[in-house]
Amino acid sequence: MPDASATLQDRTLNPSGNGLAYQVANASKWGEQKFFDAIEGAPREEIEATQERLLLDQLKWIATRSALVSEIWKKAGVDPLSITSLADYKARAPFMDKDDIRAFRDRTDDPFGGVLCVDCSELHNIGSSSGTTGDPTIFAERWDRGYEGPFTPREYWMLGLRPGDYVLEMSTVMRGVGHRITRAAGAIPLMLNHDPNEVEAAVDLIRKYRPTIFFHLSTPVIYGLERLEREKGIDMVDLFSSFRACVYGGEPVGPRMKETLDRWGVNLFQFSSLGDSGTTWECEAHDGFHAWEDVGLVEVLKPGTDEPVGDGEGGELVVTALHNKTDPLIRYRSGDFIRHTREKCACGRTHMRMTLLGRLGDEVIVNRTSILPRDVWTAVEQVEETSAGLFQIIRPQRELTELKLRVGYEGTPEDLADVARRVADEVEKRVSVRPEIEMTPNSELIKLGPPHKIPRVAKA
Ligand SMILES: [Zn+2]
Repeated sequence: MPDASATLQDRTLNPSGNGLAYQVANASKWGEQKFFDAIEGAPREEIEATQERLLLDQLKWIATRSALVSEIWKKAGVDPLSITSLADYKARAPFMDKDDIRAFRDRTDDPFGGVLCVDCSELHNIGSSSGTTGDPTIFAERWDRGYEGPFTPREYWMLGLRPGDYVLEMSTVMRGVGHRITRAAGAIPLMLNHDPNEVEAAVDLIRKYRPTIFFHLSTPVIYGLERLEREKGIDMVDLFSSFRACVYGGEPVGPRMKETLDRWGVNLFQFSSLGDSGTTWECEAHDGFHAWEDVGLVEVLKPGTDEPVGDGEGGELVVTALHNKTDPLIRYRSGDFIRHTREKCACGRTHMRMTLLGRLGDEVIVNRTSILPRDVWTAVEQVEETSAGLFQIIRPQRELTELKLRVGYEGTPEDLADVARRVADEVEKRVSVRPEIEMTPNSELIKLGPPHKIPRVAKA
């Protein structure tokens, strides 16, 4: 096992460094070692000691480099250099959110919203968020810094990536590319656009190379595959038979989609965002998504307050980037509502697990009933013509007097009003509110994608 204390500080994906290249050089380790980094299974005290060390170091770094964070802390009357411990930080550090970044950007014309801590000439890639909640925010990446950006080598190791494997990458690229990790592991990426129109090309590549990892499935890609199955009679069980892991992301998997993936024999692993400071991934236990707590300091707080919620309870995800020195977000309120636990996972990892329950900004209150997209999703999936689950909640504001939905349908139904009636019945059964429904062809709704999902709420 590698020395845990050496992991984040010393490792890098640079081939001349000792990160994945080191693992490849010591190929015998690939079959023996349970975790990529020993800290994945470290006791809580060790994780917290690491967090404290990295946090104090990070505060020193941002104090003079992050224009936005400096501004926020000055306004709050707290000097980053005066923080002495993890507990002190949680008691005194001010918060930031996406609106702060956007406001700074609009005010100063700094496209990075004041969070960039290095010179632009040091950057290797600039990615962006999906823009699902408004204007996209942009992310800067330095590829010679391991454990920055959306992925770390730990995830692919956890899913069973090994040297010589082929990886099908239908990556959304806007948030950086995963292929550098694939390549550093001695595996070979097969790269396509994340686009339902490219699934036919994906089928050809899968049949030719029999890849072991699929990154990544999403509602639009599955929509494309289902159409291919229907129209071309592709044997999906055969198609998915070589994959050790198919990664799904963008939004939660609905129950009907899960049935389809089970029917295809898909070894499904989901991933999700860690509040714009990385990603969280399912392990083989499929019991929540792991967040690497030495990469991001995670707090789960009662929305609108600084009170932590108990283990097993739901709250807002707040993240402080511990390793990222390029464009770190510090005590960032993500707007994601999650349930979490820090109990040791059945896989042996000790880092916390979370489940995304929804976006705080997606909730609508219709005559005092709280409705989230996931409530509507299950209902829409039940009706054959709308089973792709493409829909939007029309949300001009949070509190509404009636629920309006835009729902996508497949093919050319003879009686569209009847389809809408059946969808309304299913929704009413689940949320006790009868919606007004506007029907739109799936092919139109899918165009709204950024591209791995469609916005689940729309202003009009
Ligand atoms: Zn686990």
